[in-house]
Amino acid sequence: MENVKFENLEISKEIKQAIADMGFEEPSPIQAQAIPHILAGKDIIGQAQTGTGKTAAFGIPVLDMVNEKDNSVQAIILCPTRELAIQVAGEIGKLAKYKKNVRTLPVYGGQPIDRQIKALKKGVQIVIGTPGRVMDHMNRKTLKLGNVKTIVLDEADEMLDMGFREDIETVLQQLPEERQTTFFSATMPRAILNLTKKYQKDPQHVKVVRKALTVPNIEQFYIETKSKNKSDVLSRLIDIYNPKLSVVFCNTKRKVDELVSELQLRGYFADALHGDLKQSQRDNVMGKFRNRTIEILVATDVAARGIDVDDVECVFNYDVPQDDEYYVHRIGRTGRAGRSGRAFSFISGKKEIYKLRDIQRYTKTKMKRHDIPSLSDVE
Ligand code: ADP
Ligand code: MG
Repeated sequence: MENVKFENLEISKEIKQAIADMGFEEPSPIQAQAIPHILAGKDIIGQAQTGTGKTAAFGIPVLDMVNEKDNSVQAIILCPTRELAIQVAGEIGKLAKYKKNVRTLPVYGGQPIDRQIKALKKGVQIVIGTPGRVMDHMNRKTLKLGNVKTIVLDEADEMLDMGFREDIETVLQQLPEERQTTFFSATMPRAILNLTKKYQKDPQHVKVVRKALTVPNIEQFYIETKSKNKSDVLSRLIDIYNPKLSVVFCNTKRKVDELVSELQLRGYFADALHGDLKQSQRDNVMGKFRNRTIEILVATDVAARGIDVDDVECVFNYDVPQDDEYYVHRIGRTGRAGRSGRAFSFISGKKEIYKLRDIQRYTKTKMKRHDIPSLSDVE
């Protein structure tokens, strides 16, 4: 398996050139394992932790499979959130750089449906969408599934957590019998195995696991601080470590907004991302974060999964996450693709100390204690 190389894969030279342009030298382990099976038309379950290149693991073979002369929808990729649909479409767009006749379209709620309908009418071969909006288009007959050869469920565990099971099943049931069904997921809960039994044919389970749930290249710290001092501590840490980009997680939308105002008052380039914002606002914020107009993204867990922005060097758990699994997803926003990163969790009060212990047990890693930085640590 180790010696799978991009150049030896049976994919078009246009895609190989695009992969080289993206700076990918070697396939990641999940790519090395999954791509040959998908190219061979097999149903698979691809399981690997976050940040391991699952998007290209399905993006490359799906793109290679598209018949450019045929204008109909040939592949559907379902994603849990709008942000992720946009991001996956972006990555496939990069892979399709030299395949000018392949058209991809992200479809998601919050964007006017008319614009998507217009784009679909022009002919799209790969649709990347959230389950709700994909269903909506199916019901309006603006999305025809008769020629779909492959469906991908990206972040399948997350989609099920978010209550998309029925929508997903509706989509799967309306696809042609003769098709390829692939699931990608960081975890493999029973609910996915149930879907597998129902909708996949002789699936291959390709699995890349590491012992610890969190990646070793992320240094993990906790800091004990009084609640009222959190924003001081945060700004000092940012001044000391000077990350290119950072993501700060709060547990509520109100906290996010309050912290953003406070950081902006102190002169930081910070902005908010949470579910109360309109889609256009969310896109706008993510765009600014990507081009570094915003350096600190303050978010609720809406942003925890999947968001892949280079150069996120620090993640702050301003509030300790309620859910152990969210901890893993939150800190996975840094240390992408083997880079190094730092994660800081703020602890105030007994309850959070216990929570921290749970998280460490769950992730099988140990966080280091970080002192509260004093003003003299800040240059
Ligand atoms: P996942 O879906 O598993 O969380 P992503 O598909 O978002 O991971 O990939 C994480 C990052 O790794 C992205 O920035 C992606 O461009 C990069 N990446 C993917 N494959 C490779 C590769 N073979 N070599 C180098 N970087 C890669
Ligand atoms: Mg992913």
